[in-house]
Amino acid sequence: MNIQTADARYVFAASPVPVLPIKGTDKLFPVHRIYCVGRNYAEHAIEMGHDPNREAPFFFQKNPDTLVQNDGTFPYPDASKDVHHELEMVVALKSGGKNIAVDAALGHVFGYAVGLDMTRRDLQGEAKKAGRPWEVGKAFEAAAPCSEIVPATEIGHPAKGAVWLKVNGELKQQGDLDQLIWKVPEMIAYLSGLFELKAGDLIYSGTPAGVGPVKKGDKLIGHVDGVGDLRITVG
Ligand code: MN
Repeated sequence: MNIQTADARYVFAASPVPVLPIKGTDKLFPVHRIYCVGRNYAEHAIEMGHDPNREAPFFFQKNPDTLVQNDGTFPYPDASKDVHHELEMVVALKSGGKNIAVDAALGHVFGYAVGLDMTRRDLQGEAKKAGRPWEVGKAFEAAAPCSEIVPATEIGHPAKGAVWLKVNGELKQQGDLDQLIWKVPEMIAYLSGLFELKAGDLIYSGTPAGVGPVKKGDKLIGHVDGVGDLRITVG
């Protein structure tokens, strides 16, 4: 279906298209879907009580209207007393398709960004225990802070380099892109066997070890070597 942004037949105004800025330009990246990879660093799988060996990747989604722009505020959400930071490199697609081959996958990448997969850990834990879906833990308002996108034409396709998060200046999360269990081309290929990928899709690539709680007033700085920084305040 061709979704029009304005149509006189709408019974109320349509929600705006979520966008991210593109670094160094006045262009905008319109966001289609947000996919997230779970347990993609061995040390994080271990800290969450799971097997660090390479099992098939799994995915969940966040809603595109939960993006928070760089230098923005993440409002501490309702219904949780244990909200965690998960710092992740984000892959932004310029095209998509089904059943994309691993060696063709990077040709679909527009660029990269630095993101936070904010998580209501207590609600996620209850959902896991009950065998229920994760949306209450993962897809709530403002759950997807994300930096401006840096085009691959500027930086290439980073496969090695430090990934870290500081909270109030203190190092909390640390890893390296070369520790990703499923590399970017593999995650795109695998995901495209489950969903039809499209231009505008974002993929949060998984978080290194060191996830932990945030509180109001915290200043978060996330970094991915070669991509940039994300600065978020918990409000
Ligand atoms: Mn995550």
